[in-house]
Amino acid sequence: MKIITVIGARPQFIKAAALSREFALHSNIQELIVHTGQHFDENMSGVFFKEMEIPLPAYNLNIHSLHHGAMTGEMLIKLEDVYLKEKPDLVVVFGDTNSTLAGSLTAVKLKIPIAHVEAGLRSFSKYMPEEINRVLTDRISDYLFCPTLHAIRNLDNEGFRNFPCTIMHSGDVMQDAMNYYSEKVPEHTEILEKTGRDFILCTLHRASNTDDDQHLKQIIEAINVLSKSHTVVFPVHPRTRNKILALGVSCNAMMIDPVGYFDMIQLLRNCKLVLTDSGGLQKEAYFNKKPCVTLREETEWTELTEGGFNQLSGYNTERILKLSDEMMGKQLDFSNELYGGGFASKTIVDKIVSDFQ
Ligand code: UDP
Repeated sequence: MKIITVIGARPQFIKAAALSREFALHSNIQELIVHTGQHFDENMSGVFFKEMEIPLPAYNLNIHSLHHGAMTGEMLIKLEDVYLKEKPDLVVVFGDTNSTLAGSLTAVKLKIPIAHVEAGLRSFSKYMPEEINRVLTDRISDYLFCPTLHAIRNLDNEGFRNFPCTIMHSGDVMQDAMNYYSEKVPEHTEILEKTGRDFILCTLHRASNTDDDQHLKQIIEAINVLSKSHTVVFPVHPRTRNKILALGVSCNAMMIDPVGYFDMIQLLRNCKLVLTDSGGLQKEAYFNKKPCVTLREETEWTELTEGGFNQLSGYNTERILKLSDEMMGKQLDFSNELYGGGFASKTIVDKIVSDFQ
């Protein structure tokens, strides 16, 4: 069986790392990785392939730094050539990026079955680029592997049971990745020499925050106030760094370059609060038993907000400060398994193997 896995952005490398390990256990599966190039430099891409031992891409399409339409269009053109040449039995896509949509749309037009890993998530915000990518990908996929029961419910509400597709509650492959790679990270690594311990860990990259000057200003203002009494460690996404520079505001956090996954695990272990607009970090805070404040008005991971592990602050300075204080003082019970306990990749690969045998 030949599988093409399409990835292109940082969170997809982490998800693919978990699934590729599982594919590799099956000698009758040949997995070819296609890297679209969406994230391309060493600290947004290369480091993950090395640390996480992700198989090297069979193709790198080198498509990046374009607007959404041009980027997705270029990907469609180049992916079609790859699929026609390789004739895969199945295409696997992850999450909600332009690479996800291009990978699945190219496949459906060539009548190649599609597996969508991390299906069924919704923010219900039509102007969030990721929402469009995930809704459209779900609709054309043959396998919808859902990380949570909420995701299953979303698909039920949208009538997906009437469509010819397989919907499965697989658990979350990011939990698999965290469980597996956490064991490889030593107690103490170099990054802690720089950051110390007991800091607030901050990441920021969603367009709704970075592309709106007022939102970005208010968030930076909150970070600056927090920085007066806490160390705020802020691995800065390249796009966010450019936006902060363009805005001309000063940010008093400890701004560092994006870190690799192993350093991120170390930062998660040693922080006291996660302040983020990332989808993945919200869950990784939970995996590492840390409270989280999410710099958005909504989240796809509603089990975290319902359980009190995460609070939504949006971009408002006062609200970010109030919720950060509240969450740092909160005692939380992290003993429930909300994301499947680390068996998602096995569940997904077992299903694929049994259906394609
Ligand atoms: N991540 C990382 N280094 C960083 C920032 C994030 O390794 O400097 C990891 C993080 O641990 C998570 C993933 O990247 O596994 C999340 O990616 P991102 O926030 O870019 O995307 P999202 O999850 O919001 O789609």
